[in-house]
Amino acid sequence: MKFPTTMDALVKTEAAKGLTLTKVPVPIPGIGEVLIKIHKTAICGTDVHIYNWDAWSQQKIVTPRVIGHEYVGEIAALGPGVVDYKIGQIVSGEGHIVCHHCRNCRAGNGHWCKETKGVGVERDGAFAQYLCIPETNVIPIPDGMDEEVVSFFDAYGNATHTAAMFDVTGEDVLITGAGPIGIMAVGIARQNGARRIVITDVNQYRLDLAKKMGADAAVNLSQETVEDAMKRLNIVEGFDVGMEMSGNGTALNQLLKLMRNGGNVALLGIAGPGTVIDWNDVIFKGLTLQGIYGRKMFETWYKMMAMVEAGLDLTPVITHRFHYTEFEKGFEAMNSGKSGKVILDWTER
Ligand code: NAD
Ligand code: ZN
Repeated sequence: MKFPTTMDALVKTEAAKGLTLTKVPVPIPGIGEVLIKIHKTAICGTDVHIYNWDAWSQQKIVTPRVIGHEYVGEIAALGPGVVDYKIGQIVSGEGHIVCHHCRNCRAGNGHWCKETKGVGVERDGAFAQYLCIPETNVIPIPDGMDEEVVSFFDAYGNATHTAAMFDVTGEDVLITGAGPIGIMAVGIARQNGARRIVITDVNQYRLDLAKKMGADAAVNLSQETVEDAMKRLNIVEGFDVGMEMSGNGTALNQLLKLMRNGGNVALLGIAGPGTVIDWNDVIFKGLTLQGIYGRKMFETWYKMMAMVEAGLDLTPVITHRFHYTEFEKGFEAMNSGKSGKVILDWTER
């Protein structure tokens, strides 16, 4: 296959708000690497932080940087030594590039590697016509899977890792935060046999999406209380499983208060600096708290694909589609709060 030497990419070119659609060199896959021709990408909250150039991205991102880490594409070229993949194969990829030789990596816990490098954060990313990653990070996608859905598998992986951390079968589940990840977690808990699923937010647009994914109650905290929803749903002792997916300290404390004694809590939302919790909720209730980072490599990916094959429908979370040349509209939709997943199409026009 013949490649162009340059490609379109969305680049953080300078330390300021925004992104630039510009030409950059097409990466050349080295030993053990593959080149992926991008079909579709999805915008993650992280990309929005980088776009907006907030305090986190100012200390994390070195410019110029091609951003983006949620994608689906096809293998376009194989670097020397790569034998397990073939040109044209539909793939996505794990966005954390890990060292493979630290204690956690060798124990199969690559998601806890201390040397991890994020695609589209600490190395060039997927908002481009081509992306180069190590073959160890490639995720082959089963034939016939909806590429729009696969484009946000990275985020679906966060939802899956959190929602699968504790057994939800027959359990009452509270999810705080109806962002795209919380909305997907509703569908996963439903698929896996939860008794009642309650999700909270202050954003009605997103709560409506969560209802479409099967929430028994989507509580708008500016209008009703979780306790009222609990009464309606006959949740008597508190929630058995909690998933914090807002990153908001008030939500975290509310979740801890509403847990049943002996309940299990998975923490995905990134807490703001100085977040304080009432430790006595944890101590006297005997709660188990589990921090969640990324996805399990690669058990989470296996479960994600298996759940979709078993009929989990993630399409309700998709709210916007744009061509990559209209990326500004995509970021505008994300910044408006009136969005679920926003997908960018990278096919040439
Ligand atoms: P998001 O920011 O799109 O959604 C968060 C939602 O929480 C928003 O809809 C917001 O309105 C809602 N919210 C704010 N205050 C609330 C409150 N008091 N109660 C209930 N809801 C409230 O985020 P996302 O992309 O869906 O991701 C969810 C969280 O997970 C974010 O904090 C994100 O940074 C984090 N995250 C963590 C990891 C990890 O590896 N740990 C990976 C990806 C995302
Ligand atoms: Zn490692």
